[in-house]
Amino acid sequence: MDKKRLVLVGLMLPVLLVSACRPAADGSGADGGREGPLVVATTGMIGDLASKIAGERATVVTLMATGVDPHLFRPSEGDVRRMGSADLILYNGLHLEGKMGEILSRMARGRLVVAVGDVVPKSELRELSGFQGQHDPHLWFDVRLWSQTVGPVLEALTGLMPEHGSELQARADGVLAGLLELDRWVEEQIEGIPADRKILVTAHDAFGYFGDRYRIEVVGLQGISTAAEAGLQDMDRLVDLIVERKIPAVFVESSVPRRSIESVVAACHSRGHQVLIGGELFSDAMGPAGTEEGTYDGMVRHNVRTIAEALR
Ligand SMILES: [Zn+2]
Repeated sequence: MDKKRLVLVGLMLPVLLVSACRPAADGSGADGGREGPLVVATTGMIGDLASKIAGERATVVTLMATGVDPHLFRPSEGDVRRMGSADLILYNGLHLEGKMGEILSRMARGRLVVAVGDVVPKSELRELSGFQGQHDPHLWFDVRLWSQTVGPVLEALTGLMPEHGSELQARADGVLAGLLELDRWVEEQIEGIPADRKILVTAHDAFGYFGDRYRIEVVGLQGISTAAEAGLQDMDRLVDLIVERKIPAVFVESSVPRRSIESVVAACHSRGHQVLIGGELFSDAMGPAGTEEGTYDGMVRHNVRTIAEALR
């Protein structure tokens, strides 16, 4: 994977001041005829953040729809066109968009491209055992950690529209306050689960930050990326764990096929332990646009309610 840092906020400012003056029109039909710079975000979580800070001042387009797995996502021709006409591209980084490294490097030659995950100090990221120098990309599950991404998004948007700086700053302050409140709410909800049931079993290892921050043990059937399939050994180990510890519920994820978790549940049943599927979690992709789960806040609340209800 390329080692090039794609965060170019300071360097690109003079160029941006020029490009910010023209209305964005990429002809995608998703813009609703609005004017202002075109911002393309890879994941829904980043798109939601950018929309909340930009308000009506920019057009924000999210590439990955609900149910899309960012580890495997490859942009369509239309997506590439949109990125090509964007004034700003925001992505998660930390190799979440595992198949987009090349296109993002190419796009960075013509516009500002910012990896929001790159601003978080490495000391606060989870290091991946067995992958030296690589870090867990799923940082949006620690709401407090995710709140650090407000800064780079605000900075990039302000670079595009310095004339609206104070308005953007005010909205960013509101977003930050909301995130800190959400963080406290999650903490309370998870605290309420009895200690011997505080274990979250999911399809892939997306919830590490969630577990660290809110003190719940996390076990994923697949690894950090969904690119590698879970093996039979992983499956057996997980079944043993669920049966031995009498774990009441396991969870499916909206962006990962259900079948592997369903086979785990079937194997537990055949060993006499009636584990339930506690519900569907939105892990790497948010819910459909226009629903509560289609926002970052709503997605987090849905996940936490689902986990707390099933394990309590
Ligand atoms: Zn993931």
